[in-house]
Amino acid sequence: MKAAVVKALGEPLVIEERPDPVPGPGQVRIRVEASGLCHTDIHAAHGDWPVRPTPPFVPGHEGVGIVEELGAGVTHLSVGQRVAVPWLGWACGRCEHCLSGWETLCEQQVNTGYGVDGAYAEKMLAHADFAQPVPDGVDPREAAPLTCAGVTTYKALKVAGIGPTDLVAISGIGGLGHLAVQYAKIAGATVAAIDISDDKLRLAADLGADILIDARKEDPATVLQRYGGAHAALALAVSEESFATALAGLRRGGRLVMVALPADGAVQVPIFSTVLGGTSVIGSIVGTRQDLAEVFQLHAAGRTRVIYETRPLSSVNECVDEVLKGTVKARVVFEM
Ligand code: NAD
Ligand code: ZN
Ligand code: ZN
Repeated sequence: MKAAVVKALGEPLVIEERPDPVPGPGQVRIRVEASGLCHTDIHAAHGDWPVRPTPPFVPGHEGVGIVEELGAGVTHLSVGQRVAVPWLGWACGRCEHCLSGWETLCEQQVNTGYGVDGAYAEKMLAHADFAQPVPDGVDPREAAPLTCAGVTTYKALKVAGIGPTDLVAISGIGGLGHLAVQYAKIAGATVAAIDISDDKLRLAADLGADILIDARKEDPATVLQRYGGAHAALALAVSEESFATALAGLRRGGRLVMVALPADGAVQVPIFSTVLGGTSVIGSIVGTRQDLAEVFQLHAAGRTRVIYETRPLSSVNECVDEVLKGTVKARVVFEM
């Protein structure tokens, strides 16, 4: 099988021929049909974060495909079934986080395309309990971006605790943001979309955003404060500066949910306005299996649109460049 491999951090990926992986107990082997390019894969390949992956590794955690072999003991999936393989590749199921509905915080978790080989490949392994069945009728190329971009923003909005009379700022209308706009609209909120690209702002408008803010031309915080400030802001842009702006755009009692992970990112949280304004800063990491099931349910019901362009895996390095330049539509999906 072919796979796109990170041989050294910061180097272009290399397409390699590898033997088909063999599923161990509790695992399945999947013939990958579609695999999304999440910005996280670029951070992984560049070694942007304090905990670095160890090359060689295969990135990709928006893998969707068909189960083709069951490892020992797998009884709830069957050969021929379509599943999605998210970032949360495995969690212990026993710790306080797993037991309290926060498996995404499990200290023993295994991350697809980071700690173990991921979905930039024709075949991949997954732990059967964490491979999410994709509902019938959902196109695998649409299921792929939902598997990270979808579940992450759906969960971040749950964490933000938004309601139908809230103003929600979505900063960064890329892979994650274009879905965040739609989930916020489904929740009934008024949505302010922030980006630095005309195409992305047009896309946000097309997806239902009520207020468009071009951060190149105006200060998003000033614009948001004209509306009384945001009840919640999702920081989805790979820009440290955009976090501070989103924080400054909150109203009293507002919540900033940090989701993007710019390298070496830090934000100054002013004590006075945080205390007097009762504002919160919250981190949010992907979503649980149940969150992903809900994301698929919404899509199967026709309530979300996934904007993507398909590419062959052989163009992976060009695709990385285009995502960094911000010129892709919303998501690149590799079609295997
Ligand atoms: P993306 O490249 O598709 O989208 C980023 C968007 O931000 C682009 O539309 C870009 O134009 C816009 N942008 C850039 N600078 C901006 C600015 N100053 N203000 C407003 N918008 C700006 O990336 P993505 O795949 O959506 O991922 C975004 C980030 O989220 C990455 O850092 C990724 O690692 C992270 N991520 C986090 C989680 C999590 O669970 N916390 C999950 C997935 C991805
Ligand atoms: Zn656990
Ligand atoms: Zn991701």
